[in-house]
Amino acid sequence: MFKYIKRIPEPPSIHLEYGIFVHALLEDIGNVIQDNGGKIPEQVSSFMSSIWNNRIKEMRMGMTPELIVEAKGIFKKFVTVSREKKHTNILSNEKNFSYKVGEANVVGKIDQVLKLENNKIMVRDYKTNGLKNLRYLLEDPSQLKMYAIAVGREFNKPMKDMEFSFTVLRDECKDYVYRFSDEEITEAEDMIEGVFHDIKRSIAENDWEANLSPLCPYCSYFDLCDEAKNNKRHSSKRKALIKEGKVQPNTLV
Ligand code: SF4
Repeated sequence: MFKYIKRIPEPPSIHLEYGIFVHALLEDIGNVIQDNGGKIPEQVSSFMSSIWNNRIKEMRMGMTPELIVEAKGIFKKFVTVSREKKHTNILSNEKNFSYKVGEANVVGKIDQVLKLENNKIMVRDYKTNGLKNLRYLLEDPSQLKMYAIAVGREFNKPMKDMEFSFTVLRDECKDYVYRFSDEEITEAEDMIEGVFHDIKRSIAENDWEANLSPLCPYCSYFDLCDEAKNNKRHSSKRKALIKEGKVQPNTLV
């Protein structure tokens, strides 16, 4: 609500910048593989260093030495895993999508779409969070269902011919794979329509209900969110994260 309805810009943070940076590295190497006819180039290390040098110049905030080591490790591992798993038949990288469900217009961006050796399509969403903070998300792959609708419509493919992955970059670039039935996707479309009508009603009545989750202590809008601030567990976790330097104190208030 703060970000998309009230349009309060998210304050810059090193973790946000880091996520954007790592996504950009993987997009660039994906483009190099695509331009090389679906093969990882022989001189891959020279491509990797030129991608790294170009992208690091775009960073608005300096990265800590720990984050630099980690980003380099992810970049290297991603290329190794792409080679080993033959994740090289890339259909798209960082592709925008937009579709309608009833009155709702759904827009987003998909990190990568691959064609696998068995001819199935794999749709991937890269995650830069640590596995511990992703448990909650891994239990509810609604985000991937939004992607499933987009890709299913674009390629006119039934769900049985597609798989979907949260690619956890800090967990050895491992793919946490999901498959959905056509019925689950119809339910997801109903869910989108329900959410759309809830948002419409909330806007009309200026009545917003916070959807607290384990990720709240990391939220950039935490200090604007009374429900999260008044929640003991979330506020003490937030304080601990600030103390450890893992999140920055809010600059929005
Ligand atoms: S703190 Fe939690 S409930 Fe509040 S805006 Fe952020 S994510 Fe939503």
